[in-house]
Amino acid sequence: MSTAYSRKKRLSKKVLVLLIGIFVFIILFFVTMQLWKKEVTLEVPPADAVYRQASAPPQERIEDLLSRMTLKEKIGQMALIDKNSIIEVDDLSTYGLGALLSGFGAKPENNTAKGWDIMVSGFIAQSKASRLGIPILYGADAIHGHSNVPGATIFPHFIGLGATGDEILVEKVARATAQEMAATGVNWSYSPTLDLPRDIRWGRTYEAFSDDSKLVSKLGAAYVRGTQEMEGTPDKKHIFVLSTPKHFVGVGSMLWGSSSNVNFKIDQGTTAPNQVALTREYLPPYKAAVDAGAMSVMVGLNTWGDHKLSTDSSLVTTGLKQDLKFNGFTVSDWYGVYEIPGSDYQSAVIAINAGVDMVMLPFDYKPFIKNMERAVKKGDIPQERIDDAVRRILRAKFALELFDSNTTKPSLEVVGSPEHRALARAAVAQSLVLLKDDKATLPIKNTVKHIQVAGSAADNVGRQSGAWTVEWQGIDKNWLPGSTSILQGIKNRAGSSAIIDYEPNAHFTEGERADIGIAVVGEAPYAEGWGDKEYPTLDREDLETIKRLQTTCDKVVVVLVSGRPLLVSNEISSWDAVVAAWLPGSEGEGVADVLFGDKPFTGTLPLPWPHHSQQLPITADGMTADQTPLLFPRYFGLK
Ligand code: BGC
Repeated sequence: MSTAYSRKKRLSKKVLVLLIGIFVFIILFFVTMQLWKKEVTLEVPPADAVYRQASAPPQERIEDLLSRMTLKEKIGQMALIDKNSIIEVDDLSTYGLGALLSGFGAKPENNTAKGWDIMVSGFIAQSKASRLGIPILYGADAIHGHSNVPGATIFPHFIGLGATGDEILVEKVARATAQEMAATGVNWSYSPTLDLPRDIRWGRTYEAFSDDSKLVSKLGAAYVRGTQEMEGTPDKKHIFVLSTPKHFVGVGSMLWGSSSNVNFKIDQGTTAPNQVALTREYLPPYKAAVDAGAMSVMVGLNTWGDHKLSTDSSLVTTGLKQDLKFNGFTVSDWYGVYEIPGSDYQSAVIAINAGVDMVMLPFDYKPFIKNMERAVKKGDIPQERIDDAVRRILRAKFALELFDSNTTKPSLEVVGSPEHRALARAAVAQSLVLLKDDKATLPIKNTVKHIQVAGSAADNVGRQSGAWTVEWQGIDKNWLPGSTSILQGIKNRAGSSAIIDYEPNAHFTEGERADIGIAVVGEAPYAEGWGDKEYPTLDREDLETIKRLQTTCDKVVVVLVSGRPLLVSNEISSWDAVVAAWLPGSEGEGVADVLFGDKPFTGTLPLPWPHHSQQLPITADGMTADQTPLLFPRYFGLK
């Protein structure tokens, strides 16, 4: 009896302990839930909060907003994600992400201007659903027109605009591009490129205006103004699109064979640090762009001496932000921060402390946010650095008036409009450089009755537009809505006054002779390091096409469609006339305008034209590596 009694007693003691345990657990659970709830249900600021008032001074709006943000919300603003990497669309508001981009090829299902508008406005609306309602920036590489979008006007790549040397034209091109972007809701342009290419083997040579720092400064500043200062829209003062000079800094001076990417040779390569070149050549275009009002700058993927640019606080913070008085924000290039040696945590800490304000992740944002929170809590990144970065990002967002709804964006009709196409056509005409004209071949006279046209780039709008056109690596075929090939331009101009025969490889009927042959030959599209090429020249097929054309025509004009000067010293002496047409874009008629003399040749070489690759790299003063003379110096161009 007594044993049964004491067992019962022990049992009821155990039950009591269990009950107390459960009670304590419930209390703790309840308290934790309350605390957690408190964090996730932070107060939504009232409609009349200072930062929401369009009439309040921007500085006050920024400080008010900053004071309301949690650490997590601040870090969210520092993240830039490729739109295809967004896991749940709600993440935009849940994490308060700062910006999205369409890396090339990240398009809407309905890949039209309207489809873009619907996609971007959907993302913007989602970002505004966050607690603080901070709208995202939406970025794209509109580097020669709003060229992600089929049907947009495709302007000449920058190397062609460099050949025009015309800042008024460049400003107009930038403005037209920004209008087409704004119509589709895209408010952030990763342009202009301020690189100075010293070696034409580099696959990004054509993205630069020139290798001359002065010309790049002039045209770069014009491009920034054109992008940000809109005229001819319902709201003249409003900035619709932010311009982003890139790639800060020293890019174009990398050495052949130094790339950090195993697939490339020179792109993302190393520059031997050279303070004189930095001060005299590479920094001035950034100074001009900052003075022109640039509010974001992209930090390059290149290596300066022994370290990645995005780790260099003396360049990013001291050089750009302090010395050049840049008060916008810096953004790292695609995955660039993670190319810094070390763990993802360490890379982020180093880049942010060096002065990177927004990170183009562009994929995984959740680990980034966690790492950053940890880094600030541990004191590896000072809170003031985070506040400085977010303040800079917000400054740009307020300058764009993203929080205010009192602006009317341009209508979708501006995308690929006749006015913009006419501007592009004029830009093409101005960009052509006449390199050689023997036998008075050009301009083609009205008395010419029979012309044979051939070559890989004659009837190929994709090739004449180059890369960064709808697809990152471009499309090597005759496709682009609303565009005109160079062949079509020639046909339109000749009308019924001359017979135009076309055969891509010049297999014309034997014995049938023409007065003039036009060989439109050139490079297949390439982007970034995929275009690094040890010996950039014409391929065998195009060279044979030219030879064949020479057998059936009295005179032959060679039109070079390329992203860089091509090495043609072995062949050029046998060609009667040679025109560098660069990558003219969607308006092939601009080429015919000049070939037929409706407009004069005015373009000059934006960079020196070497004979062979031993001459590379070429210095800013035009000195070749092997000290031999160039084929054509910079600014050469017959009139
Ligand atoms: C390029 C940048 C470009 C970015 C976003 C990078 O690979 O280097 O010029 O802006 O991608 O598309």
